Amino acid sequence: MKFSEIYTKLKAISEEDILTHFPKRYDDLSLSGSLASFIDHQKVVLKGSVSKIVSIQGGKIIRLSVHGELYKEDIQCAIFNQQFYSRVIKKSGEYFFFGYYNDKMKTVMLSLVLSSDSLLVANRYKPYYNIPHDVSQSAFYGLVIDILNNHNDYINEILPSKYRHKYRLENRLQAFKDVHIPVSQETILRGLRVFKYEEALKYCLKSLQIRRQNSFIKKRQMTRIDEMKINSFVSGLSFRLTKDQLAAVVDIINDMNKPVIMNRLLSGDVGTGKTIVAFIALYGNALREGQGVIMAPTVTLARQHYVRAQAIFNKYGLNVVLLDNSLPAKEVKENIRKIKTGEAQIIIGTHYVFSSAVEYKNLTLAIIDEQHKFGVEQRDSLIDKGQGVDHLMMSATPIPQTLSRIINSDLDVSSLFEFPNSSREVTTKVIRSDDPLIDKAIKRAISIHKQVFVVAPKIEKNDKSSRLSAKAVYDDMSAKYGIDNVAMLNGKIKKVDQEKIYDDFVLGKRLVLVSTSLIEVGIDVKNACLMVIYEANYFGLASLHQLRGRIGRSGEGAMALLVYDGDDPDALDKLSYLSTHNKGEDVALYDLSNRGSGDMGGDKQSGQSELQVANFVKDLNIFTCAKEDAQEILENQTDAENVSYTEYILGKE
Ligand code: ADP
Ligand code: MG
Repeated sequence: MKFSEIYTKLKAISEEDILTHFPKRYDDLSLSGSLASFIDHQKVVLKGSVSKIVSIQGGKIIRLSVHGELYKEDIQCAIFNQQFYSRVIKKSGEYFFFGYYNDKMKTVMLSLVLSSDSLLVANRYKPYYNIPHDVSQSAFYGLVIDILNNHNDYINEILPSKYRHKYRLENRLQAFKDVHIPVSQETILRGLRVFKYEEALKYCLKSLQIRRQNSFIKKRQMTRIDEMKINSFVSGLSFRLTKDQLAAVVDIINDMNKPVIMNRLLSGDVGTGKTIVAFIALYGNALREGQGVIMAPTVTLARQHYVRAQAIFNKYGLNVVLLDNSLPAKEVKENIRKIKTGEAQIIIGTHYVFSSAVEYKNLTLAIIDEQHKFGVEQRDSLIDKGQGVDHLMMSATPIPQTLSRIINSDLDVSSLFEFPNSSREVTTKVIRSDDPLIDKAIKRAISIHKQVFVVAPKIEKNDKSSRLSAKAVYDDMSAKYGIDNVAMLNGKIKKVDQEKIYDDFVLGKRLVLVSTSLIEVGIDVKNACLMVIYEANYFGLASLHQLRGRIGRSGEGAMALLVYDGDDPDALDKLSYLSTHNKGEDVALYDLSNRGSGDMGGDKQSGQSELQVANFVKDLNIFTCAKEDAQEILENQTDAENVSYTEYILGKE
């Protein structure tokens, strides 16, 4: 493959773009011992030559007999579905073989074979890169080495020299070499330090800059919110606020009374009661005669908020409207009209509330519920619409203060740690799908008229990646527990019908609801005490925690059954972590610290997606230093190096 093709496939422009594709991991090339010592599933590295090559099943399987100095007998290996190896592997050559030992078949299942003169195996550790499948590791590595050896004059220092000296960081070329040409653990770490610091400083500088810019955004002159009125609203509620809720309310009302806009994050585990805090903010906002909006990630959640908001606000004579594009067109039109004239004071809906169809008379407060469910772009467009508007973000990822100060350094944070229902605990178990406990628990719940959520990751039966789809589970459950007891909810069902199904469930007309992860966010059904999650491994830890947060909301005991039939140790580790940890804070920490480099999926909220090598939890010290340094750099903009670094990271103003 030509170097230019690799650039195209990776969407890389410069040498720097290639070199900052850091290895996702390093494989130790220490060779495995003799066959007799192998245990099932063990990772195996062999070095040797091939005495026999056989292609079977039309070339789908290649069988190899490998012998080398270390091995008394030939070791049997197999490669599946990688026919090109039958052309590449020669009896005369010497190779490294990577794979897992399968004890039943007495065979090493190979995932990779490299010629022993490949650059990738020139050192003790073999770098592994997260690159598109159609670019081979060897081809990519050839390019990396070519740049490092022949085109390294493009590699420039980025950091101001003060900080390079302060932390004794190596020059960048050496650091790239350390990371890409892994001679020893020490040199890898030495190189990584440089890029971790670079990432941390960039992250901190960006967030501090955002914070700074926001702190200059003035809002329109508005009447001060009267704290006495807030107090009497709070005393009119049917329950007493927790200490944390009260503190958050004070923070928020104080922010709203400032001349600059609010940019606050309200974070708290599932069930800590964020919604009511948001409602109090909306009430305060209505007192100063502004319009306020809550944006929720799903129609179901928006409607739940709407019903509750009406119950609370109607007695204060406030006009609440619901807005999402699944409502009948007439109603949408009417509600848009009310928003435009200002008749509607409180608006609740999906992201539709910020679409171009909606024009506000006097928007002054925008609240985003479950903000991590929205992409960065959606949030950006919201901020565009809400120029000069107070912002409150809500998220269910509670993290310790020290960490939050780094991750959310562009925002002010109020955290809810206390649960209004202190007895709430969800017993969580990891089980296999044939465990009789599933049937027993569902039958028991039905017999005492309690409700059950059953979750499966996919909708369709024919989905190869999932043995158990929502439809398959639904068929099974409705046969077992009666068609009248079981309902199904998924994203392919029409929105109006989804609402009807959900409403019936809330009303208790059905006892078992089979669903995709649609029910993950925010839904509050007090009578639900059991949740069965099929293919639990498919979900991230945070999602699973959110899901189980849907049950046990009445304060009585509840049980979540995580069904997993596989035997991947990482998956089992993840799932059993949930069975021993009930606190969202622990879950968030596990998630944040196990998110490795290159793992980009679904981590919008924490900002981890912007980081390749640095990790908020593991490299907290680096971030703490970097935050101070970023502050210093922004404050010392007479220093030429600081100026050029700031421009490099943030672009010219
Ligand atoms: P989350 O923080 O997950 O969004 P919710 O706002 O949906 O949680 O609140 C969960 C439940 O707890 C709701 O039924 C809500 O009415 C109730 N709740 C909230 N605050 C209190 C409180 N201080 N005392 C008792 N119940 C409360
Ligand atoms: Mg909520």
